[in-house]
Amino acid sequence: MNSRTDHPLDPGLYIVATPIGNLGDITLRAIETLRGVTAVACEDTRVTGKLLNHLGISVRMIRYDDHADQASRERLIARMRAEPVALVSDAGTPLVSDPGFRLVRDAQKAGISVTSLPGPVAAIAGLTLSGLPNDRFMFAGFLPVKDKARRDVLSELADIPATLIFYETAPRLTRTLQAIHETLPNREIAVARELTKKFEECRTGYPLDLLAYYETKPPKGEIVLMIAPPTPGETNTEDADALLREALATSKPSQAASHVAKLTGLDRKELYARAMALK
Ligand code: SAM
Repeated sequence: MNSRTDHPLDPGLYIVATPIGNLGDITLRAIETLRGVTAVACEDTRVTGKLLNHLGISVRMIRYDDHADQASRERLIARMRAEPVALVSDAGTPLVSDPGFRLVRDAQKAGISVTSLPGPVAAIAGLTLSGLPNDRFMFAGFLPVKDKARRDVLSELADIPATLIFYETAPRLTRTLQAIHETLPNREIAVARELTKKFEECRTGYPLDLLAYYETKPPKGEIVLMIAPPTPGETNTEDADALLREALATSKPSQAASHVAKLTGLDRKELYARAMALK
């Protein structure tokens, strides 16, 4: 029996989503649950401490991330057998580009009752603001930091018939926009920034336009980046490269570029630059 609530919580693991910037987004169930558990597993006790303080809740915090060793995970799971334990991350929904996957899996394997309290998640808030198709979407987390790896992932995901959703950081945004421009120049993209906060904004446009905008106005804060699905008949740069290579076998780069521009509708100057690089 938990003396801190009229409705004691059963032992187990409670995955609790928390705000992504606006504290008003905490749910009633999240508050009730954080009040009812005997411990909160969290990424950073300072960040979660602030939230709990704001809610007037005093409860033991246990630092946890998926790099924690097996023994500390087992200790947490042993606690869940006897008591209700919450899992939160610094912001939003645990496990979504945040720790928790191993804990949840091991808790389930150990026969612990696990339940999830839905709430804020930046990917979904961004998608709803983007103006991009939302009937199908794919969340792909953070793109790799290295240029080649980032381009490879973009090419790998290019043909998926869904809006692609990525998490991004402000200092890396322009390089990523450049990579999208080079890989998928004709796709609409959306940049949703500082969601739920005072300076929330969402800009939708083509990679080159957004690149020009953010190069003159370097972005700040947290970012969700989305790429529209392919349109039927669309040519991505990999397809264009294949066509260019074919044309280069029999013509000069300038002729090959004009030929492929006619076939695909892609920019002739950019195709010429690619043809020169491929030659
Ligand atoms: N678990 C979180 C969730 O449910 O959205 C995501 C955690 S992940 C470590 C942090 C990334 O989420 C940020 O780099 C940013 O890409 C995105 N993010 C978090 N809060 C955001 C916000 N208020 N506006 C835009 N993006 C945000």
